[in-house]
Amino acid sequence: MNEADSEIIAGLLEDCNYRATRVPEEADIILVNTCSVREGADSRAIAHLSQYKNLKKHNPGLTLGLVGCVAQRDRGKILEQKPFIDLVLGPDTYRRIPELIIHANKPCIDVHLSKQEVYEGLMPFRNTQVNAWVSIMRGCNKFCSFCIVPFTRGRERSRAVESIVTEVKKAIQDGYQEITLLGQNVNSYKHQEDRFPDLLKTVALIPGVKRIRFTSPHPQDVDEAMLKVMREHENICKSIHLPLQAGATKILKLMNRTYSKEKYLDVVDKIREYMPDCSITTDIIVGFPGETDEDFEETLDVMDRVVFDNAYMFKYSPRPGTAAVKLPDDVPENVKAERLNRIIEKQKAHLLAKNRALVGTVQTVLIDGFSKKDRDEKIGRTDTNKLVILKAGSACIGEMVKVLIFDAVGVSLFGKVD
Ligand code: SF4
Repeated sequence: MNEADSEIIAGLLEDCNYRATRVPEEADIILVNTCSVREGADSRAIAHLSQYKNLKKHNPGLTLGLVGCVAQRDRGKILEQKPFIDLVLGPDTYRRIPELIIHANKPCIDVHLSKQEVYEGLMPFRNTQVNAWVSIMRGCNKFCSFCIVPFTRGRERSRAVESIVTEVKKAIQDGYQEITLLGQNVNSYKHQEDRFPDLLKTVALIPGVKRIRFTSPHPQDVDEAMLKVMREHENICKSIHLPLQAGATKILKLMNRTYSKEKYLDVVDKIREYMPDCSITTDIIVGFPGETDEDFEETLDVMDRVVFDNAYMFKYSPRPGTAAVKLPDDVPENVKAERLNRIIEKQKAHLLAKNRALVGTVQTVLIDGFSKKDRDEKIGRTDTNKLVILKAGSACIGEMVKVLIFDAVGVSLFGKVD
């Protein structure tokens, strides 16, 4: 979401004739876009911005700005604590960037949360090659007790289908192959009579869209209409991110996740009924307040029953401003660490077994770049979002190719063009 927001900001600056640079010394504006979901990312972002304050000695006109969720959350204290920062902007105020940078007296703060802002009509400045992020809704009404998002990004609101279609068509014209529809709760998309399955179908029918992904859905809003549209359209990837967070219903209740363990498993069964080969990935938090060994065993049980294709796994840490901060953080740090290790090991084993089962099969892979480790290798993704590494030269970036998988190591599959 922040990458997509950064592209919107870059688009606004481009329209004012600013040009992007990778050299901080050349920049007249440096904005750091921040996320406050996890502990550590926020302090790293401010430290990152602090690195640039000395550049003002040589370029007194340099504007340094902190934008995004940390700016929204810490609004009052940032300018006091970091007087070198000129701009503090929350996620709903980016339209004001040109006006504030060009005309306003510095320093400036705007953290107004909007009930309507969806950045309709703005064209993002993208510098990716294959995938185009398209934000379709913003905000969240779910109020999970551990999460700051509803407070930093406000209530849910969705863009009109026509404006999304215009942006997707432009991305296709610009050469993008894959569209990823984005939203904090992407499948609670709702604009007038249109719901997420309607939008998904409309985007799937746009000529030239080779692949469509979406993230992140909430299990509560996965319905048969959505699964039916996914099944019916070949260009909608058979891959769903379905955040579990915890396996025990007791903990899910404390997290205010709105589903039980059984309901979550029912959703998984429904997905597999419609699309037996659909990959399912997840997020898991261990050590939430009150999580006993028995509760944790329930998380392991869900993992064994679902066998996720991938998982983002974290130790719980209280986030200021959330409801869970009022609960006693009573799981000792060493227990959290031990639980985290156990789920990581389990997930590694599940992933490897799933990947090994693909050895010898032919997968359709969209090539999206070079391997970071070896420029002689290219990387791509299967329809089910699995990473495949293949020798360079055998396919071009942006090409969809049939790949024979010949090995599976760690999280990666190795293949050659069939
Ligand atoms: S659904 Fe829960 S975890 Fe996701 S953004 Fe909303 S409050 Fe946060």
